[in-house]
Amino acid sequence: LPDPDASALTDADVALRLPRPDATSDKYRRGVIGIAAGSEHYTGAAVLAVGGAIRAGAGMVRYAGVAEPVAQVRARWPETVITTLAPGEGIEEVGRVQAWVLGPGLGTDEDALAIARSVLASDVPVLVDADALTLVAKDRTLLRRTAPVLITPHAGELSRLLDVPRARIEARGLEHVRRAAADLGVTVLLKGSTTLVAEEGRPVRINPTGSPWLATGGTGDVLAGLTGTLLAAGLSGYDAASCAAYLHGIAGQRGPLAAGDVVEAIPDVVRSIMNRLREDG
Ligand code: AMP
Ligand code: MG
Repeated sequence: LPDPDASALTDADVALRLPRPDATSDKYRRGVIGIAAGSEHYTGAAVLAVGGAIRAGAGMVRYAGVAEPVAQVRARWPETVITTLAPGEGIEEVGRVQAWVLGPGLGTDEDALAIARSVLASDVPVLVDADALTLVAKDRTLLRRTAPVLITPHAGELSRLLDVPRARIEARGLEHVRRAAADLGVTVLLKGSTTLVAEEGRPVRINPTGSPWLATGGTGDVLAGLTGTLLAAGLSGYDAASCAAYLHGIAGQRGPLAAGDVVEAIPDVVRSIMNRLREDG
């Protein structure tokens, strides 16, 4: 039986919500996304999150990070506007952004915490993923802010946030994604073999796309960048999360794949979904 408190998006639902540029567009109005990710030891997460954001069609990507990931991002994505952060420095000097992605490969040390604090102190929506979820699990007061928060945990990350065993979350995803949204007062995208999106007062969205080929290192970082681009374009956390999960699932349908292949598949997926809307009238 269909659950009235849960629903799945279709191609047409996603096409209707996807931002598309028009004659009045400029790069700022299309959405400037800020990405605070990567660390001296984890540089790939930064490259993949930036790639997901750029290939999803961001107006502009601003990347803030320490020296090593900066060098990698600069080499791979010359489109990015980069701020190199000194140890302990936050993102205060980075120019204006419409949304932040925080966490992939960030680490959990004092430098990472300084970056996380500064991003969460901003007045724009923040997507909190990966290592930033570990920091938030240790200090939930970090989530106290007025602008929206979207968290994108897998079951293990949500387990630490809710203090519930991972296996229980995997067995009862719907229940736990709802509880996380209610208890933490944030939008929640719970990643897994089936990805779920919850926000209090809304039906849980069940993502119908995806494949087990996505179970490989770095695909979550791509999803974070892709979702951040939709947030920066002005979609709500709930719509950005569900549309991004849908697109990411299609981009990861055919394997074997590497996370970088998912990045490169995004434009074709976006194009085909947009064309579907035209065919449907
Ligand atoms: P992360 O856990 O951050 O590395 O992200 C992994 C990505 O792969 C998420 O988008 C998951 O939903 C997806 N994923 C992981 N395992 C599976 C699976 N068995 N079937 C489908 N998607 C998966
Ligand atoms: Mg991850």
